[in-house]
Amino acid sequence: MNITVWNENRHEQSNPKVREVYPEGIHGAIAGFLKEAGFGVRTATLDEPEHGLTDDVLSLTDVLIWWGHQAHDDVHDDVVAKVQQRVLDGMGLIVLHSGHFSKIFRTLMGTSCDLKWREADEKERMWVVNPSHPIVDGIGETIELDKEEMYGEHFDIPVPDELVFVSWFEGGEVFRSGCTYRRGLGKVFYFRPGHETYPTYHHSEIQSVITNAVRWAEPTTRPQPIRGNAKPLETIAEKE
Ligand code: ZN
Repeated sequence: MNITVWNENRHEQSNPKVREVYPEGIHGAIAGFLKEAGFGVRTATLDEPEHGLTDDVLSLTDVLIWWGHQAHDDVHDDVVAKVQQRVLDGMGLIVLHSGHFSKIFRTLMGTSCDLKWREADEKERMWVVNPSHPIVDGIGETIELDKEEMYGEHFDIPVPDELVFVSWFEGGEVFRSGCTYRRGLGKVFYFRPGHETYPTYHHSEIQSVITNAVRWAEPTTRPQPIRGNAKPLETIAEKE
C-alpha cells in the first residue's frame, strides 16, 4: 500500500515550539511510524507545486492522510476536486484534528464541520465505543492524552456511518472523535487528536490507531458500479 501524508507545514515554519515537538514536521512524524509499519510512504506539503498532490502522486496513492489548520483557504479548489474524485473512485482518506475545517473534508461531508474549541492544556480521555472495529485493534478501553486542545460538541457533521471514539475533556465537554464514512467507493476516517503544540503523534496508541485506519481504508478492488440508462435483464410483460 502507498500512503501519502499531506501536511500544511506552516506552524512548523513559524512556531519554534511546534518545531521542537516535530523537528521533521507533523508529516515527517506520521510518515516515520507508517514506514516502520511497512507501508510505502511519501509526504506532500502545501507549498510544493500543486501542493505536492500531482495527478501522478494522487493516482499512486491508496490512502491519503490530511493535516491542515491555518491555511485551508490556500488549498486550490482544483486540487480539492481531484482529491474528492479519487476518494469517490476508492482512495482512502484520513482527516486529522483541525482538518475538520479543510476544504476536502467539508466538501465530502456537505456540512459546516464547525465545533467548539479551547486551548487549556487539558486532559483528554478517548473512549472506544466500537470495540470490534478494526481501527481499534490492540487498543484498550480508553486512550489518555495528558494535554490536548479541547474540541466539543456540537460537531456539525453528518451522522457517522460508524462512531469509533468519543472523547471526554477535563473541562467537561465531549466530542465524537473517531468517525467513519463511505463516500463513493472510498472510505473516510476523521480522527480528532493532534494539536500542533502537543506530542500527540509520538503517542504509541495514537500511532496504532492511525496505522489501523490506514489498513481499514485500503481501496477495494472492484469495478465502478454501473449507472445510467439500463436495458432490462428479464423480459418485461406487456401490460394492457
Ligand atoms: Zn489544534
